[in-house]
Amino acid sequence: MSSGAEPSPTATSYCRFIARRGSPPLDGAASLGVTGVEVDLGSGQRRHIWTYGALRSEEPIRPNAIDVLLTSKDEPGASLFVQGARFAADLRERAPQLSARAAWLREKRMWFVLLAILAALFFLGYMSGFSPAKSIAKALPDSWRERLGKTTRESMTEGHKECIDPAGLAALKRLTDRLSQGAPANVPFNVHVYDWSLMNAFAVPGGQIVLTKGLLDKSQSPDETAGVLAHEMGHGIEMHPEAAIIRGIGLGATLEVMLGGTTGGGLANVGLMLAQLGYSRDAEREADKHALELLKAAGISPKGLGNFFTRVVKMEADEGDKSPGAFSWFRTHPPAAERARLVGAQHDYPASPALDAGDWQSLKSICNKTRAADEAT
Ligand SMILES: [Zn+2]
Repeated sequence: MSSGAEPSPTATSYCRFIARRGSPPLDGAASLGVTGVEVDLGSGQRRHIWTYGALRSEEPIRPNAIDVLLTSKDEPGASLFVQGARFAADLRERAPQLSARAAWLREKRMWFVLLAILAALFFLGYMSGFSPAKSIAKALPDSWRERLGKTTRESMTEGHKECIDPAGLAALKRLTDRLSQGAPANVPFNVHVYDWSLMNAFAVPGGQIVLTKGLLDKSQSPDETAGVLAHEMGHGIEMHPEAAIIRGIGLGATLEVMLGGTTGGGLANVGLMLAQLGYSRDAEREADKHALELLKAAGISPKGLGNFFTRVVKMEADEGDKSPGAFSWFRTHPPAAERARLVGAQHDYPASPALDAGDWQSLKSICNKTRAADEAT
């Protein structure tokens, strides 16, 4: 070619240049310049320079490649086919991102990271003995648990609007703060109410708790709501939701949800699964034990927890078997008699209502204002 005047760093190779999809290919010569691939399409044609950093190849360039097919961010839509093993080999050195190894690493890096985390977590679980799922849950970063909790909460409350009346939110925060006094400082509780007529309450990962309007409606006093809330906080403190999800869908899938990966069918059902599995009797007793401690630290009577439970179970029995199945809070919880005994065994301590009359009214009216799930938060 007629580039004898310039210092040509490498020999030129035959190339075909396509300016855009559908346009006719132009024959030319490609060479490896100082800053990029230089394309000479003959006299009268503009010289193209594609900088090395902006190069992409559809197929990674392997060590034994005999030609390359390139695109460039410098000239979107254009493509360049260059023939020659020498050209391909030299290009690999100048634009290492095009090599097969780089592509493989990009693809695998994520999995290396996951594997390393898995190995570390399994080791931690193994070292700490009894409950690997729980040990793993405790070893996870807070932000991951938070994300898992959000996904789970959205899955479980699908089709229901979140209640956000400001006075109600303020009352809910006062109640949550009061109950949090006796909780470990590293569990940041976050309580959400949904406009859902089903009487329900559940904890999801990351210290997030969902209460339904149905539950507030059926509560006859703030102490009853406080008792249920304290029980769910107990599950949160013990990381029962995290452990149940890890056991249910496996650690790999759980990590995927937490890392913001796929939201495939199995993962969308995380919430349903959590609801259906429920917790073991032992887990429920642990949560009740925490509930009593939290109520005591907050100076709230535990009778609300006991009363509510007894009353609602009796009510359900009176209404016959038209309860909502898997989602019923009371289905998955210890028998009323057992809980009543537990509450009854508590020594009396000075207590005041969980909320004053005004705040209680505000909390019961929290669904006067709602927000759909897809609206910005
Ligand atoms: Zn429970």
